[in-house]
Amino acid sequence: MVMSYFQPETETMPVSEIKKLQSEKLVRQVRHVYKNCAPYRAKMDEAGVSPEDIRGIEDLHKLPFITKADLRDNYPYGLLSVPKSECVRIHSTSGTTGRRVVAFYTQHDIDLWEDCCARALAAAGATSEDICQIAYGFGLFTGGAGLNGGSHKLGCMTLPMSSGNTERQIQFMNDLGTTVLCCTPSYAAYLAENMRERGEAENPLRIGIFGAEPWTEEMRRSIEDALNIRAYDIYGLTELSGPGVAFECCEQHGMHINEDHFIAEIIDPETGEVLPEGSKGELVFTSLDKEAFPLLRYRTRDICILSRKQCSCGRTFIRMTKPMGRSDDMLIIRGVNVFPSQIETVLLNNGYTPNYQIVVDRVNNTDTFDIMVEMNEDHFTDTVSGVTAQEKKLASAMKMMLGINPGIHMVAPHSITRSEGKAVRVVDKRKLLSDSQWKG
Ligand code: ADP
Ligand code: ZN
Repeated sequence: MVMSYFQPETETMPVSEIKKLQSEKLVRQVRHVYKNCAPYRAKMDEAGVSPEDIRGIEDLHKLPFITKADLRDNYPYGLLSVPKSECVRIHSTSGTTGRRVVAFYTQHDIDLWEDCCARALAAAGATSEDICQIAYGFGLFTGGAGLNGGSHKLGCMTLPMSSGNTERQIQFMNDLGTTVLCCTPSYAAYLAENMRERGEAENPLRIGIFGAEPWTEEMRRSIEDALNIRAYDIYGLTELSGPGVAFECCEQHGMHINEDHFIAEIIDPETGEVLPEGSKGELVFTSLDKEAFPLLRYRTRDICILSRKQCSCGRTFIRMTKPMGRSDDMLIIRGVNVFPSQIETVLLNNGYTPNYQIVVDRVNNTDTFDIMVEMNEDHFTDTVSGVTAQEKKLASAMKMMLGINPGIHMVAPHSITRSEGKAVRVVDKRKLLSDSQWKG
């Protein structure tokens, strides 16, 4: 039997009912945070909004936004909205250097999160007959735990492999007959490449659930061809639970947002104004059911478009495009969060000027990451070995700071174009979603 929904009644609920449900949950959630979370109370008081002012989703815009800065300011326990004794789990983002976000879960929170992941698996066509290999990382990262829980709920035989150890991944996949692979798209591409190099033309896979980082339609096609599977996108963030906030269905055209648990808005990142459906802007989420770590109007910094257009899969949940970029300066390179400010810090600590340019591209489905750095008088050398030594030293300092290895290219002093306005520090040549690929 092909079961395409995990919770059919919810997933195909008429839009008017979804909105009614969201309104009821919003009123309850606002009361919960106001009562149990001092920083929220202070924020709402400051904005002059009381819980009584929020009578439904039409009042959502009255609430202040919450940002990653609020999360950092209240690290670690400030935004926890239940007693610690009610929490059963902590996860954290992969962000480095003090930018870590810690999120808390009650058993109920975990349960609903796993439902979301089970919906994603079912939407991709997985059933209890499937053998599901979870090659997302396990640990503080949400990818492994989320999909593992979802796979259990759907009744798949689940292999909690975690990421890495490619040889063993492929061996288990073949020996056990894995039919569903869950991992980042870059790891899927790597596995495919590895299998090709071994001359393995066949594999037992039929479905891939790939997400947690940006990837293109071109990359999807290439992975689908290489592995002979259908590949589906999944989106989420630790702050809201993890993967499964939104997921693709058989249409492979935008991700359905689990609207019974999350309200999505699109805002103008400059003014904060709420934009009408179909506009491109920053995605903002309100979590309606989270007990331990509820976020109201959380600014994701992800830029995308929402569409209510009816989907052939029968789901009524609104769809989002894959993130088309970020409204802050964070780059996600090979799955790792990189801030230009971190690069600047390394340069300054090593006696360079902050004249640099980051160039990111995608070649053969892998991100390339290069940093052009100006030599200055102190470092000037015109021997090849001198330049190479400097590049090597900086590359290892960058690796320490960022967790990934950039190509460092020393360039002559004053050769990087100075700008009068905002410096162009980042040249991102990756094209994630061209406008012609989104039909609403
Ligand atoms: P970590 O930092 O540990 O990778 P986060 O939860 O902070 O985990 O990552 C969330 C961010 O990852 C999102 O805000 C988004 O920018 C990106 N992301 C997640 N899923 C996708 C996806 N399917 N496509 C593109 N970007 C994604
Ligand atoms: Zn659909």
